[in-house]
Amino acid sequence: MTTAELQAGAAEHLLLHFTRHADFAAGGRPLPVMVRGEGPYVFDADGNQYIDGLSSMFCSQLGYSYGEPMAQAASAQLTELGFHTNWATAHPRAIELADALAERSPGDLNRVFFTSGGSESVEAAWKLVCMYHHANGEPQRTKAISRQTAYHGVTLGALSFTAVQSMKALFGPPAIPVRHVANTNAYRDPDDEATRCARLLGEIEAVIDQEGAETIAALIAEPVQNAGGCLVAPAGYWAGLRRICDEHGILLIADEVICGFGRLGEWFGSARNDVVPDLITVAKGITSAYAPMGAVLVSDRVAAPLYAAPRVLAHGITFGGHPVCAAMALRNIELFEQDDVLGNVRRMEPVLQAQLERSLELPIVGDVRGQGFFWALELVNGEMPDGRFDAADRERLLRGFLPGRLAQAGLIARADDRGDSVLHIAPPLICDEQVLTEIGDRVHAVLEDAAAFMAS
Ligand code: PLP
Repeated sequence: MTTAELQAGAAEHLLLHFTRHADFAAGGRPLPVMVRGEGPYVFDADGNQYIDGLSSMFCSQLGYSYGEPMAQAASAQLTELGFHTNWATAHPRAIELADALAERSPGDLNRVFFTSGGSESVEAAWKLVCMYHHANGEPQRTKAISRQTAYHGVTLGALSFTAVQSMKALFGPPAIPVRHVANTNAYRDPDDEATRCARLLGEIEAVIDQEGAETIAALIAEPVQNAGGCLVAPAGYWAGLRRICDEHGILLIADEVICGFGRLGEWFGSARNDVVPDLITVAKGITSAYAPMGAVLVSDRVAAPLYAAPRVLAHGITFGGHPVCAAMALRNIELFEQDDVLGNVRRMEPVLQAQLERSLELPIVGDVRGQGFFWALELVNGEMPDGRFDAADRERLLRGFLPGRLAQAGLIARADDRGDSVLHIAPPLICDEQVLTEIGDRVHAVLEDAAAFMAS
């Protein structure tokens, strides 16, 4: 099929996720159709090369050149046992993968429940939390705390934790009562780090007080929050979350759907915060996106009641822990270790940071923040006292100018304004200094033009 035929076929039959379809209607932008990948690059149907500066939505940890070892793992598994469930039965790959994850997880997070993706992981975590409190004679713990602007998935349970109003408005009241507390955005915050940390933790304690501590089941947060633009927590914040949760019998869920599997230079991003949560949700990078999979890691303490007869783990997903996906996830771990992927992120983090910080000299860049290979540049409007773009300018910049200019520069990055206006950069974890420098150059060139465009 030609590119035009593929685009016409998409227009006729394919519904795209979180997409304004009209943007790609006749006379609009051409729909990018990606056909091939290699290292950190992807190629569209016209043969144009792009650096995947977003790892295909924070998933492609290994980039695109590991198809062969992944295919070998999948092929061996397909020949041996194409599918079996983990419903009151098991298969070797799920057992081995649970073992491998437990070995690499922090503290006593030794139990693993498999899912097919991130939203399912978040919902499974919530159900495990509910089962724990029920078993402990506290069924009244039915509420949760999450943070403003956070994204924790879109299935109806997970959507309750998500705090992006535009994604919730159409779908009725949330399935789970959730209080959204302030996130850790430090940009424009006049307080110093210690004062900010104390204020943020104080707000959480106040919310717990208002709701009644005995009604709160869990607090969910990402080690570095994606929506809002790579919001790194102040020093002491996660230790504070752990202390508050312990004091009040609340379970702490680290949502590592993005921050896990090397994105922050660790198997689990919580290691950067030096805190052991009660549950960790993962997906995306668990197979480097060569197959769809997710998981919830659960502490021995939280899982303990599940082992008491005659209790049933009252949740299940047909494809959770699919043997082919599990075989590929195991291969992913082997490849991470063989090629020292975590070491690469640790060594290259300062390079990526420095490359992106070069753009701070541009009037349109107000802040550069992140950790590991997970960064955001906040885009600012020097004309406005608070530095923010109004809705019309966000439309012009984020959905008008940037997508086309980024494509022209051969760079995939995400312009986003679920919070303030940001450009996300999260390249595959195998990128070397040369590719990161190229990313820095392209970001700079695109944002230089964006500044001129917005000033025109
Ligand atoms: N949690 C976080 C932190 C995420 O970033 C996402 C997706 O981006 C999800 C949950 C939902 O994952 P999925 O899209 O695989 O359902």
